[in-house]
Amino acid sequence: MVIKSRFSFPIPEVSLPTFIFDSPTAELPKTPAYISAKEPDKYYLSLHDYRLYAQRLASGLRCSGLQPGDRVLLFSGNTLFFPSVVMGIIMAEGIFTGANPTYVARELAYQLQDSGAKYLICAEASLDTGIAAAKEAGLAADRVFIFDDGTETFNNTNAPKHIPDFGTIAPWTSLLDSPTAGAAYHWPHLTTPDELDRVVALNYSSGTTGVAKGVMITHKNYVANCSQQVHIASQHPNYAARLTWKKMLCFLPMYHAMAQAQFVFNAMKQRVPVYMMPKFDFLEMLTYVGKYRITDLAVVPPIVVAMAKHPATKTFDLSSIETVGSGAAPLGREMCEEFEKLWPSGQVNIKQGWGMTEVTCAATTFSPAERSESFSVGEVLANMEAKIVLDDAGLVEAPQGERGEIWVRGPNVMKGYWNKPDATRDTVTPEGWLKTGDVAYMDETNHVFIVDRKKELIKVKGLQVAPAELEAMLLEHVDVADAAVIGITRDGEEWPRAYIVPQSPEKATPEVAEGIKAWLAERVSRHKRLEGGIKFVDVVPKNPSGKILRKLLRDQAALEDAKA
Ligand code: AMP
Repeated sequence: MVIKSRFSFPIPEVSLPTFIFDSPTAELPKTPAYISAKEPDKYYLSLHDYRLYAQRLASGLRCSGLQPGDRVLLFSGNTLFFPSVVMGIIMAEGIFTGANPTYVARELAYQLQDSGAKYLICAEASLDTGIAAAKEAGLAADRVFIFDDGTETFNNTNAPKHIPDFGTIAPWTSLLDSPTAGAAYHWPHLTTPDELDRVVALNYSSGTTGVAKGVMITHKNYVANCSQQVHIASQHPNYAARLTWKKMLCFLPMYHAMAQAQFVFNAMKQRVPVYMMPKFDFLEMLTYVGKYRITDLAVVPPIVVAMAKHPATKTFDLSSIETVGSGAAPLGREMCEEFEKLWPSGQVNIKQGWGMTEVTCAATTFSPAERSESFSVGEVLANMEAKIVLDDAGLVEAPQGERGEIWVRGPNVMKGYWNKPDATRDTVTPEGWLKTGDVAYMDETNHVFIVDRKKELIKVKGLQVAPAELEAMLLEHVDVADAAVIGITRDGEEWPRAYIVPQSPEKATPEVAEGIKAWLAERVSRHKRLEGGIKFVDVVPKNPSGKILRKLLRDQAALEDAKA
């Protein structure tokens, strides 16, 4: 049965910059919009500043030779200027791609090469990684720019750096045109379906199988998903009034679809101020909530668990919180209830949403007009359809209440994977259905419950881990003859575990396992480490075409862990 959202409305037929800022010259608020949580009085940007920095960057990028469709990679944690870089690239008709700021050089080089990035804007604190990756990807020093944490840009103290064996790299501010030229920069006025279908971002995701791929997101995708999310937020009985006092705190990484949507677009569309943290820090987050009277939190499940369990949470003033939304990974109702007890007044009812990079950000959300009493992720967003299918071809639809793979369709579904037509064909049907790889059922009110994952993907603290990437790396180790990686669940969290066939039986020792673990840890970012352990096996179970039978390994892991 195909379920259609109970909401539908025309998606504005405008470009993303026009959607957020109205026009290049419209009068915009000059009140603080992005505010440094650490030094709020000194460092902040208004919506007007956000647009102007983006226009200055767009104009500067075009002067520096950026051509429509060129990719620009931003490798940085959150800063006040992060949104202006995203938007500036898009205003210049370039394509933004953001990389996880904890990446090691090999991972960053992969994204540089896969996206064919022409420019790298790299956090000052990660220059070593950025330069090593630029060298590997063949990007010259004059294409690499230093991105400071924002303070140098505010204080006008940015300076070039000479890197031996590489060259001199300029600060990102050297790409900014003057404020006058910036204000005069008009991004193209787009209206036709073809124009609105132009790719503006490559957000990396491994999808249902294989290694990370560039998810092509268009103007239409962003405008649609932002409209859909703002629409559901507007179901709040007190929506209009709340906009006058609503404040958000951003600690999730902005390179990822979830924080990108919430903070670079949705919050600004609604003119909601955002206090910005460069990255997540538990105690700082709790401090800032009280200090700035934050009203709305966007979190991932490990943060809910930490807040519910950590004794320190109760010592902080969380009384300003009105809504909490969780996404990116599963969260049980018991944990939600424990979390909600932090507010004895009962004022907080945590709502879950479910999404994927491939749907721009969100596909379902729990309406703020309803109380969530289960682990449901809510209902499909406006203008979307969903169905639960029982077979790979999607020919057999599950009866209501039965589990199967959830497929979704709507204006927020990606255009496809960058330069990967086969992967695109495997993931999006000719009729536009996205095969999500998630297992779900729907109840009689069309509320969606995510119960399992059919795809390979592992999520560690809300971040993606692609088993195929770790398997390919493990095969490079001298002691490894074959390997398969799956996710195991421990204490409600997922961790990668490797099943390894050793080169010879005598290598199957705890010492060799530790050695392999340490070897891999040096080559991948922290969340990809084999914290789920290594198990030696005689053979990796595979089907006749060589596909790893992960379900068998997952069952084996469940047995092993039950015995332990
Ligand atoms: P990403 O593309 O990094 O956002 O990861 C998307 C995947 O995260 C989904 O396909 C799900 O497997 C998982 N996911 C996201 N939100 C939820 C949720 N609320 N509950 C369970 N899994 C989720």
